[in-house]
Amino acid sequence: MSESNNCISLEQAKAPFFVGIDLGGTNTKFGVVDDNGQTIARLSIPTRVSEGPDQAATRIGEAILEVAQAAGLTKDQVKAVGLASAGTMDIPGGRLMVPANLGPLWNYYPIRDRVSAACGLPVIFANDADAAAYGEYWIGPGKEYQSMIMLTLGTGLGCGIIYNDMIISGAHSHGGEYGHTLVDLLPNARVCGCGKAGHLEAYVSATSVIKRMKEAIEAGKSTSVAKLLEQGAQLDAKLVGDEAAKGDQVSLEIVMDVARYLGVGMINLMHTIDPECILIGGAMTFGKNETELGRAFKEKVRQTINEGAYKVLAENTVIEYAELGGDAGYIGAAGIARAAVE
Ligand SMILES: [Zn+2]
Repeated sequence: MSESNNCISLEQAKAPFFVGIDLGGTNTKFGVVDDNGQTIARLSIPTRVSEGPDQAATRIGEAILEVAQAAGLTKDQVKAVGLASAGTMDIPGGRLMVPANLGPLWNYYPIRDRVSAACGLPVIFANDADAAAYGEYWIGPGKEYQSMIMLTLGTGLGCGIIYNDMIISGAHSHGGEYGHTLVDLLPNARVCGCGKAGHLEAYVSATSVIKRMKEAIEAGKSTSVAKLLEQGAQLDAKLVGDEAAKGDQVSLEIVMDVARYLGVGMINLMHTIDPECILIGGAMTFGKNETELGRAFKEKVRQTINEGAYKVLAENTVIEYAELGGDAGYIGAAGIARAAVE
């Protein structure tokens, strides 16, 4: 699948050029990005995780050359490739560790060097949440700030922390694994996708929205979602958001509880990092500022912060939605490659 919207032409672009890659559990996105962060060409291919990482590395290598060609570039005109993947990972070692979204076949796979061998270009490795944050920091709303954190709400909860142009990835490449910080020590704490109980991700992710709706239906609560499921609808976070927007109280309570926990997570980040800005990104953003629900969601986050954070932080930290959507990952990966080879 190729996309051409929001692309600039090669004549409008500024050298040098980079290929950014966002390797996901379902699809892998590629973009040729210029020195200003503008996209010249895009490509998306299915990741096919079940075929294993060797096959994927070969196909990723081919797709890098394909997307460069689509941009009108020879291989030699691509200065470097940025490869962002879901964690966990060892960034300096260029290896995956135990990437839950990719499955056990991919554990400890040296993906950076295999992709580099497949395309014949230098490859810089990054965490996908870090890359998405870096994209927003480079050309999105984060470009106004020196310090910025982005929380990505999707199947899990991603986090990228940027301070004075540096990504805080930590001594063991786990510095942005913020979804696995503890927010609940009670015996009935929700269980996270990683298997441990009480982690923030278990409260602030699409997975948690689905779980909570299932619990509400099983408890016999009256919700329009139950009726839609009886008619064959698929239960996902978007359905819950859509019904919340139409006034379904059970759905709205779930969405607002996600906002409350997201606010708690932000309070902890503010008191640890004190960034100028925190962005909310990812697939689950309830229409952002464009919809009443998106505005109410952000307002609930803000209200939680006002109640729980030091006044100077509550008053001065900018909370906003991210803007680059699904492109943030590959744009940021290209930006990380650009910063690494400069
Ligand atoms: Zn966890």
